[in-house]
Amino acid sequence: MERKVLWAPWRAEYVGGKKEPGCIFCPPPGALPDEERLILYRDEKVLVLMNKFPYNTGHLLVSPARHVPDLTDLSRQELADLMEMAQHCLRILREVLKPDGFNVGFNLGRVAGAGYPDHLHLQIVPRWEGDANFMAVLADIRVIPEHLVATYRKLYPYFERLRGAG
Ligand SMILES: [Zn+2]
Repeated sequence: MERKVLWAPWRAEYVGGKKEPGCIFCPPPGALPDEERLILYRDEKVLVLMNKFPYNTGHLLVSPARHVPDLTDLSRQELADLMEMAQHCLRILREVLKPDGFNVGFNLGRVAGAGYPDHLHLQIVPRWEGDANFMAVLADIRVIPEHLVATYRKLYPYFERLRGAG
């Protein structure tokens, strides 16, 4: 009888990397720009999206193209691609919105606050002097000083430039 190979890591990778139809970080292929989905940038490696429920103006989400839940799932190349895009995002946000600082980080798992725990994403939240007290007091009633779409339209041309360069 022929012996079957059961250990097949490539298969696990395939299943783990499958695009999910309902995932905001795995949008179906289509024309860009996608203002309705607030997608600022997308290529075969990464996606940049504005958070629909931002903590502050210009709150961006950067995700790897592959549908995986954890930082440890990424290859070195994927880590580099993700962080390179994070650098682009910081530069663009600095130029356009002129924040005084940023919070940059990952929420891994729902218990840690991840709204989409199945697809890893890096949160980039611009911060301004004096916004902290304001945000703490308001807690869940987050006041967005600038309309989302207006911010999207401000940021979009900068990402368009990246696409041209890239
Ligand atoms: Zn996904």
